[in-house]
Amino acid sequence: MPLIPTSVEIPLVGSLCLSDLIAVLLLSGLALLAISLTIVRKLQIELPQGVNRSRWYLLGGMILLFFIGYAGFFVLKYGEQYTMPEKLVSVILFFGALFVLLACLLAYRTTQELKRIYVLEQETITDPLLGIFNRRCLDRRMQEEVLRAQRYRLDLAVLMVDIDNFKQVNDTWGHQVGDLVLQHLTQILADALRQTDVLARFGGEEFVILLPHTPEREANKLAERLRTAVEQTPLHRIPELRVTVSIGSACLLPDGDTAYSLLERADKAMYWAKREGRNRVGLYSYCDLVDHGGNTP
Ligand code: GH3
Ligand code: MG
Ligand code: MG
Repeated sequence: MPLIPTSVEIPLVGSLCLSDLIAVLLLSGLALLAISLTIVRKLQIELPQGVNRSRWYLLGGMILLFFIGYAGFFVLKYGEQYTMPEKLVSVILFFGALFVLLACLLAYRTTQELKRIYVLEQETITDPLLGIFNRRCLDRRMQEEVLRAQRYRLDLAVLMVDIDNFKQVNDTWGHQVGDLVLQHLTQILADALRQTDVLARFGGEEFVILLPHTPEREANKLAERLRTAVEQTPLHRIPELRVTVSIGSACLLPDGDTAYSLLERADKAMYWAKREGRNRVGLYSYCDLVDHGGNTP
């Protein structure tokens, strides 16, 4: 009795039949999955250590399993005719691979976009020369810290740091050395501060340090430590060039104080230190008393 064929392959274009097209579809799907794996790899390299990165490792592993199963199906059926359900499965597998690729591409592009936004945001709050916060960021952080300290009755201190006779440094050594001095000072200040303290360039050669949870006594001690460190640390490249700083210290008052008035008091204390001969710490609580005594304006 003659055998009745279960499926008849009708040539579509020349000698190319539907099974060949299915094989091409399967190969294309495999290529899409391979591209997806490279994108996932890129993401894994670019993402910082953390939960998200481990999740991308998990997802990469799942795509790899999909790839292996897919390739196995292709190899097993290689050179054979596909039954109708197998053709259907092949089409579904192809669209599955396409979906994986699109999802990976979108995730990658979104990550790049977010990174770009983050860099732009960082640039708007960072001083380009010193890499610390700029005035814009300081103003915002001061408002936040003052509100928080008032709300929860916490200590908050501010130090205003100004380099002594900096104009003379520029005039004698040039502006490039002046910039080096600013970087040198930033390093000394940053090294001495806690992670929770805020160091910002207020402008020119003036810096402001916000000290959350810091009582007056502690802030004054820190100011003195900073002053001594600057005085005693020579510049790497030009050891004979020594700079000093004058520092004003002020603390948030329990009632009716604002970020503006707090900063103003630290500024006044700093100018008091300048008038007293520079390279010293001015405490607002002290210079305020002296002010009232009429000895200093
Ligand atoms: P005082 O002890 O009273 O603070 O005197 P000073 O010379 O430090 O203060 P003054 O305000 O007279 O001069 C500040 C100088 O800081 C003038 C300006 O050229 C310089 N300066 C401001 N920003 C920069 C900067 O980014 N780089 C350099 N190299 N110099 C700067
Ligand atoms: Mg100065
Ligand atoms: Mg100044």
